[in-house]
Amino acid sequence: MPLIILTGYPTSGKTHRAKQLQTYLQTRISQFPDSSSSSTLRVHLISDHTLSIPRGVYNLETKSQHERSNNASEKDARATIYAAVKRVLSNKDIVILDGANYIKGWRYQLYCEAKAVKTPHCVVHVGTPVEKARGINAERLAKRTALGAEGSADTMNGVAEEDQPYESECWENLVYRYEEPNAMARWDAPLFTVLWEDEMPPCEAIWDALVGSEAEGGKKLV
Ligand code: ADP
Ligand code: MG
Repeated sequence: MPLIILTGYPTSGKTHRAKQLQTYLQTRISQFPDSSSSSTLRVHLISDHTLSIPRGVYNLETKSQHERSNNASEKDARATIYAAVKRVLSNKDIVILDGANYIKGWRYQLYCEAKAVKTPHCVVHVGTPVEKARGINAERLAKRTALGAEGSADTMNGVAEEDQPYESECWENLVYRYEEPNAMARWDAPLFTVLWEDEMPPCEAIWDALVGSEAEGGKKLV
């Protein structure tokens, strides 16, 4: 069953879209009769916050761009995410990977993992304009300042990790390093896009392309 990889700028709405997709898929699966093996399909939502990976791993620790993208804590975070995906990806499990997934080589690695377990995959690009996404992070930073938690490690008590801001410099650097998905690259295809104004991600198209025909007894697209 598919691996659905979200990608987009920080604070572009990836978690919001991942949750919408999760709800859609769970509802769709619940509509299969109990006698159908598809009724037991499981949906997993994996993200930094489900794995307790703090925003801080994306903070800049070194000076050069090269070293920045090889930040050790970020590498460790990727290893944790990879292991979590690998653990659950099977023909009975649908995995939604909520994260920036901004490195092309990383998306390629995930694509290879899906191939290895003979399951389809797709990429969902949360195509929020950069100014909009920056504005959301700025709002979160302002809220943190208002709460008087600026600079403190255990900031914003009561605010979920997924709703915390990135440090401005870190946010800008993640955008700078962002490698846009390309529908022509096999590891980014099929590629679905969801725009800020869209009420929902293209759930039906994702279902039809990756889950539907197989779950309903037809051929699957790998
Ligand atoms: P990300 O996971 O990319 O960091 P979030 O999903 O946490 O971003 O979204 C950031 C904020 O913007 C959240 O408060 C979310 O509810 C809101 N949001 C995201 N997408 C939309 C949208 N399309 N329309 C309105 N609000 C949105
Ligand atoms: Mg998020």
